[in-house]
Amino acid sequence: MDFKLSPGEEAFRDEVRAFVEENLSPEARKSPGFLASWLKQVRERHWVGFDWPEEYGGGGSGVMEQVILKEELAKAGAPPLGLCIMGLQWVGPAIIEYGTEEQKKRFLPDILDSKYQWCTGYSEPGSGSDLASLQCRAVRDGDEYVVNGQKIWTSLAAWSKWIILLTRTDLNTEDKHDGITCLLVEMDSPGIEVRPIKNMAGSSHFAEVFFENVRVPAENRLGDDGKGWAVTVSALAHERSGISEVAGLVNQLERVVELAKGTRHNGRMASEQPSIRRRLAKADTIIEGMRLNGQRFLTKQLRGEPLSSETSINKLHRAFLAIELGDLVLEIQGHGSQYPSSAHAPSMDRDLWPNGVLDWPTVVIGGGTPNIQRNIIAERILGLPKD
Ligand SMILES: Cc1cc2nc3c(=O)[nH]c(=O)nc-3n(C[C@H](O)[C@H](O)[C@H](O)COP(=O)(O)OP(=O)(O)OC[C@H]3O[C@@H](n4cnc5c(N)ncnc54)[C@H](O)[C@@H]3O)c2cc1C
Repeated sequence: MDFKLSPGEEAFRDEVRAFVEENLSPEARKSPGFLASWLKQVRERHWVGFDWPEEYGGGGSGVMEQVILKEELAKAGAPPLGLCIMGLQWVGPAIIEYGTEEQKKRFLPDILDSKYQWCTGYSEPGSGSDLASLQCRAVRDGDEYVVNGQKIWTSLAAWSKWIILLTRTDLNTEDKHDGITCLLVEMDSPGIEVRPIKNMAGSSHFAEVFFENVRVPAENRLGDDGKGWAVTVSALAHERSGISEVAGLVNQLERVVELAKGTRHNGRMASEQPSIRRRLAKADTIIEGMRLNGQRFLTKQLRGEPLSSETSINKLHRAFLAIELGDLVLEIQGHGSQYPSSAHAPSMDRDLWPNGVLDWPTVVIGGGTPNIQRNIIAERILGLPKD
């Protein structure tokens, strides 16, 4: 692995740093319309979908430039590059890989412009980890598919204009991974009903979605009929690799260390407590392991090989850290942790409390549970037998 930057890459890193310095200063962040101005500027620079093909509005960048951009922005705690989260992270990449020319022209520029949200319709009440057992049925009728069934835990369903939907089109296949078809469906199609579900943090960001005789034009099929599993495997690898980005974690750990240095705990600063120091050191070691693993993925990408199962390694570490760092913040803060923005917890970092403690399922369960990542690592990477 030789990750020494070329002069062109060094120049690009300096360009990003200068941009960040100018546009993400504390004063800039406080200015009215900061987020809108940020989104406009990064879009104009083609940093949104930086590695997507230029002909559809992307940046056409190489892998290293993409890494430099992500690292520098994460280090600076930058806002997202776009608001169409799932569109940018996995729907767009799946369309680039499997979409028709029409679909690329129709959807990719809109995703880059954050024109609307996408949601993901994979899980069903009886099919989560064992996704290939899904039952939501699509039957071909002339130039359309007719969809009947139910999805659950569909994040952002209530706000989305489109859903990337996995359906079963063939009930008589030997392998359950065959006979699954991926459809791109407009959420305001007649026959779709969204029923929000409240999570333990009190927010209703996910929902049940019901389909009753929903007619979907066949031209909205992504990939071949009965071959939707391949589309999903590719999209999930992108989802898991997105979740596993390391630079943001470095940032988060630094904030916990600062908190420990500034909070008294059992008569001395939390950062002087051996048990807390051990946990901080363990988190740091895991993050360093993730960084090195990330470089292995990067080497593969630089060789032009697709990402696959190995992204599960960092997804698993990320799940551990989501719970561990949240728990550590609670321990450091003690009773003060119950008052995230009050005088009882003056040094509390407002983001860490809700994200780390009440919102951990998003990182831990979304995109596949830790046990499932362990199975993937055991079977596909280590080659261990299934039973
Ligand atoms: C915040 C959040 C957002 C989500 N957003 C979406 C979304 O937008 N779209 C979507 O389609 N889904 C979404 N999901 C659903 C998520 O993908 C599923 O919850 C997840 O795949 C687990 O499926 P399940 O809930 O059916 O649990 P189950 O599959 O029933 O698993 C229950 C337990 O059994 C274990 N288990 C199951 N099978 C095995 C096995 N073979 N070996 C070992 N252990 C096993 C699991 O690890 C888990 O601990 C979201 C979930 C959450 C929490």
